Amino acid sequence: MISKVRSHVTQNEPLLFELSSPGKKAYQLPELDVPPVNASKALGAEHVRSEIEGFPEVSEVEAIRHFTRLSTWNYAIDLGLYPLGSCTMKYNPRLNEAVARIEGLAWAHPYQPESLSQGAMEIMSALESALIEITGMDAVTLQPAAGAHGELTGILLVRAYLESLGNPRKKILIPDSAHGTNPATAAIAGYAVENIKSNDRGMIDLELLARVVDEDVAALMITNPNTLGVFEEQIARIAEIVHSKGAQVYMDGANMNALVGITRPGDFGMDVMHLNLHKTFSTPHGGGGPGSGPVAVKKHLEPFLPLPRLKAGSSGLTFDYDRPRAIGRVKAFYGNFGVIVRALAYIMAHGGEGLRNATMDAVLNANYIRKKLEGYYELPHSAPSMHECVFSDARQAKQGVKTMDIAKRLIDYGFHPYTVSFPLIVHGALMIEPTETESKRELDLFVEALIAIAKEVEEDPEIVLKAPHGTRTGRVDEVTAARKPVLRWKPAD
Ligand SMILES: *Cc1c(COP(=O)(O)O)cnc(C)c1O
Repeated sequence: MISKVRSHVTQNEPLLFELSSPGKKAYQLPELDVPPVNASKALGAEHVRSEIEGFPEVSEVEAIRHFTRLSTWNYAIDLGLYPLGSCTMKYNPRLNEAVARIEGLAWAHPYQPESLSQGAMEIMSALESALIEITGMDAVTLQPAAGAHGELTGILLVRAYLESLGNPRKKILIPDSAHGTNPATAAIAGYAVENIKSNDRGMIDLELLARVVDEDVAALMITNPNTLGVFEEQIARIAEIVHSKGAQVYMDGANMNALVGITRPGDFGMDVMHLNLHKTFSTPHGGGGPGSGPVAVKKHLEPFLPLPRLKAGSSGLTFDYDRPRAIGRVKAFYGNFGVIVRALAYIMAHGGEGLRNATMDAVLNANYIRKKLEGYYELPHSAPSMHECVFSDARQAKQGVKTMDIAKRLIDYGFHPYTVSFPLIVHGALMIEPTETESKRELDLFVEALIAIAKEVEEDPEIVLKAPHGTRTGRVDEVTAARKPVLRWKPAD
């Protein structure tokens, strides 16, 4: 029934405790040539653990195999397509990892004097310049540690700027297709959030916008392309409407993977934006490691950028702390430097032409998937896709099958699920972002899997409703698992 399964993983690994048999050892030590001492006496009883019972005893090869097999349970971009939408889970060239580990870069210390940090500072300066060119903005800070942190920094810049004009204003407008971090950012920056509804093409309704923008509005936060994977065609007009009431336009640039080398936010009227280096410009994304959310601004916001700023002096680059209008610091030191190094390596290795090609391939791949699947899954907004496409489970729901069930079944076919139930404006969403990384072969396997599942839903929905079948653990009670996690193993009685 799952003949096309490409089983990337070995799913029947027991717990290490279950592999244990007394007396096995994973080490060989030479015979003791000094008198033995009692551990409690030598270290103090409080440092010697006594409460662990049934500690696993296994051989070296058993330990190695156990952990190696477990490592294959972790689905990764190195195994196959990782189609999460809104995340840009692209493959990151190993070269950039090698560059980030170059000794002088990996071991540079933030307290090193400026005279000994000129190379690192030049890397930061070169990346700022590259990002200015890519975004069409006037200045960049590399400090924020993630996209959401960039948003907060950017909205604090807007607040500082408006305050300098006499009134920070009260509200931020956010389309209903926005990422959840946008309203959170607005609230933390002390603004009320007003939602604006998208039209049936998944875009901002200009008439509605013109009605809601007034002198209380500090900014519109807009994601472009938005979370439906749709480019806001009227973006320049949107900016004009917002500016006409003295408000600012913040662009969430997390989806720049669809724009780089094609169009520039600075050219279509954006005042401030962030980039996710860990989505668009290398750095493995999704492993919970450090990210980077540089903020790019137009000239009028530049004086407010956080401290310190890189500045060219007579003896090279320096950090400028003498900026009285700055919003202050947003991060210790200078940003996540390793991510900055990877981003510059990625940009330089690709060059302008290469970056543009990556964008074109990302958009092509998303449209390929949309076209191949539109006969099988409902497409709530039919505008052309940029980097991702969003289907709904409306057809499958008639057989009682929901987006979560389809996602679980996809695991049996050897793929990581797509993003489930987001964006919220699409009921039962299946959000798919293939990225430029994937070959036609991999995309076809993915499409075949989703088509096979759509057929299963028609013929035998139980298979899908009870999926996954090929994993060690099936459906878990996610609420209880989150609220009352069982983190300790207890030996069976
Ligand atoms: C990922 C994402 C963010 C948040 O970025 P983090 O680096 O995860 O904080 C914000 N907006 C959009 C549209 C995103 O896709």
